[in-house]
Amino acid sequence: MPYIILTLVIIIILAVIVIRALQFRAPSVPFEPAPPIKVNIDQAAQHLSEAVSFPTISFGGDSPAEHEAFNGLHQSLEKMYPLLHQKTKKFTINRHSLLLLWEGSNPDLDPVILLAHQDVVPADPTTFNEWTHHPFSGAIENGYIWGRGTLDCKNQLIGALEAAETLLAEEFQPERTILFAFGHDEEIGGNNGAQKIVTWLQEKEIRAEAVLDEGGAVLEGGFPGIDGLAAVIGTMEKGHIDVRLHVTATAGHASTPPKQTAIGILASAISRIEAHPMPAQLNRVLPLFQGLGENLPFSYRLIIANHWLFKGILRRLLEANPQMNASIRTSIAATIMHGGIKENILPREAYANLNIRLLPGDTIENVLNHLTQVIDDERVEVTLSGEFQDEASTVSPSSGPAFEGLKRAIQRTYGDIPAAPYIMLGASDSRHYTAVSDHIYRFSPMVLSSSDLDRIHGIDERESVEDFGNTVRFFIHLIRNWSMSLDGN
Ligand SMILES: [Zn+2]
Repeated sequence: MPYIILTLVIIIILAVIVIRALQFRAPSVPFEPAPPIKVNIDQAAQHLSEAVSFPTISFGGDSPAEHEAFNGLHQSLEKMYPLLHQKTKKFTINRHSLLLLWEGSNPDLDPVILLAHQDVVPADPTTFNEWTHHPFSGAIENGYIWGRGTLDCKNQLIGALEAAETLLAEEFQPERTILFAFGHDEEIGGNNGAQKIVTWLQEKEIRAEAVLDEGGAVLEGGFPGIDGLAAVIGTMEKGHIDVRLHVTATAGHASTPPKQTAIGILASAISRIEAHPMPAQLNRVLPLFQGLGENLPFSYRLIIANHWLFKGILRRLLEANPQMNASIRTSIAATIMHGGIKENILPREAYANLNIRLLPGDTIENVLNHLTQVIDDERVEVTLSGEFQDEASTVSPSSGPAFEGLKRAIQRTYGDIPAAPYIMLGASDSRHYTAVSDHIYRFSPMVLSSSDLDRIHGIDERESVEDFGNTVRFFIHLIRNWSMSLDGN
């Protein structure tokens, strides 16, 4: 008799597990295909090409900004977008950052902001011969626009302006004010660009209903088991600090060493840190899987829909993938180590740098506490160093009108594809905007395959002309949605 009961209980549990997996679906936003939008793709590609030809490079360090390139880009934008420059108020902030204000008909509504950065990373001159076209040629060939910034992120900047100019030609009047905010030093932290724009907004007491910045994209084959396209929208962004571990010891002759040298003490501290990672927060990635829903392979749905039961398996699966592991915890990477000056002298000191990316939920303070506790050795001094001391961002909601309006713009452009929230591992200008908005979304309207990912900051950066046409279409949908009903319904 007890066996029958046990068997029955097992069957019931199995049935619950399978039913939950079968019912695992993405929250549905009713999808109505929009009538096709005509875009002058050739002209848009020409404009992107021209923008790429200005080497608006952020070198960082003591290098001055490329004044001539930024001025050239600004003049070129004025020529390319005459209607927009007639219709909007333009503010130049801190010499090179741009803010264009397109006034809405309803002054009671908070504006929305479309971000992009004007600057690009340098292209290493020693690799110029590996580029199919010179990185600042802006060549258009074989269906692609080539050059630095075509993916990161002059396509975002030109795409948004192209959409606005197209809408203005149709005499479109937004209800809600739209701001275009283009910083000029995102690649080196955004403190002179985005941060100054945010200060300007704060001085004018302007808060934004929603903000869109670069970030996620439409991924092709980005998830195991999902063959088609899937969009990811960054609803949060990791923080960033560097921590210095420092050990001092007595110098002396290497023939009579103590039990541990400064290098040995430092090495065992690092080894303990690697053995004790920050705790996993599985809840941070569940919205991503929820957003992919029924598109995930059944085996994944089985585990994720029943994560109450399969927590351990799920954690191990995620930890095995560096990208996913970085999405569920604050990551700590030892990136520099120095110590010693000569083969036969005991080192007087040794130090190491830890590059740390904070997951929302962890703070700089509790990461430092974790390190001190895990190292558990007073000889190791733990201090914040480096130029970045950024807490993790706030988390924007992955539901509600602004998110839905964005999701609809994606689906009206790329078809009925999943669009799921995710954690952005890198940093963007958008983190400065948490001071002026609760709805910050990071999404670059472009289709990316894994080979495209290597081109960002790499060699042969390019975007296909056809894909760029969709970038413009996406912005037309988004401007319509966000400046009118917000959710696009
Ligand atoms: Zn970028």
